[in-house]
Amino acid sequence: MAPPRHILELSQKEQRQFIDSFDMVISDCDGVVWMLVGWIPGTGAAVNALKSAGKQIKFVSNNSFRTDEQYMAKFKHIGANNVHDDDVVHPVKTIVRYLKKHRPGQRVYSLMSLEANETLRKQGIDFESLQVKEHLTAASLVDHLSIDKPVGAVLFDIHLDMSYVELAKAIRHLQQNEDCQLIAGGSDVIMPLAENLNVAGFFDFLEHVKRYTQREATFLGKPSPILGEMFAEMFEITDPKRCIFIGDTLVQDVQFGKSCGYQSLLVLSGCLTKEDMFNAPVDAQPDYYADSLADFTQLLQNIQE
Ligand SMILES: [Mg+2]
Repeated sequence: MAPPRHILELSQKEQRQFIDSFDMVISDCDGVVWMLVGWIPGTGAAVNALKSAGKQIKFVSNNSFRTDEQYMAKFKHIGANNVHDDDVVHPVKTIVRYLKKHRPGQRVYSLMSLEANETLRKQGIDFESLQVKEHLTAASLVDHLSIDKPVGAVLFDIHLDMSYVELAKAIRHLQQNEDCQLIAGGSDVIMPLAENLNVAGFFDFLEHVKRYTQREATFLGKPSPILGEMFAEMFEITDPKRCIFIGDTLVQDVQFGKSCGYQSLLVLSGCLTKEDMFNAPVDAQPDYYADSLADFTQLLQNIQE
């Protein structure tokens, strides 16, 4: 496999061939379109330029701790036009889709953010969650862990307020009901929070639940193949090679894109450097790379000349 090439270092003819090689862009959000905290210059203009060039553009994130309204406010802030709720996919949406298909009408326990729970509520999912703010004693912990009704699934996702009692209750539900399914969204190892600030992700919290329940999780975030199957259905993808996946990580983005049969592009605006990319095993490297999504604006200008 040839090493990845920077899209602005392709010849003008190659830049045109590259643009003509895809109809749909599926882009990660954090680290590509914006930072978790902060912005990336020129990304809104790039989204608009890709649309003007006739490309469909969809967005996917492993972060459900924003509501649709908050996602739309961010797209508005960067000046990206005509982005709608349905253009954005994140774990709680795929979890709802999965539950409606595989566990219709069942009550679930949510170990997810308030924003994700709001989406469950709007979608008519019967769910239980714990938000315990008081000081806990062993006795009050016992009270919180009592189970009134069994649930069909425990939903795990990035949840910045996650607490011991919530984790303990999730474990109780899974231990009490053999048929209770563990479903996971965002559970990355590292969470790039802001420029030069990468913190531990939620991976080990999920491992904790798995360890005490001997249960495997059904993953519905990137890089789960189930998510790829959902994209094919939701976005009516018939020829995956005509899609390009853009992301800022190798595992969640580039590998995911490759496993779906899409072309792949790594941007260096998120958590990885060019050295990280070239030091990775050859089959983990993307087809292309760019400094930022904003490079597409330049590329589209280049091929107009
Ligand atoms: Mg990212």
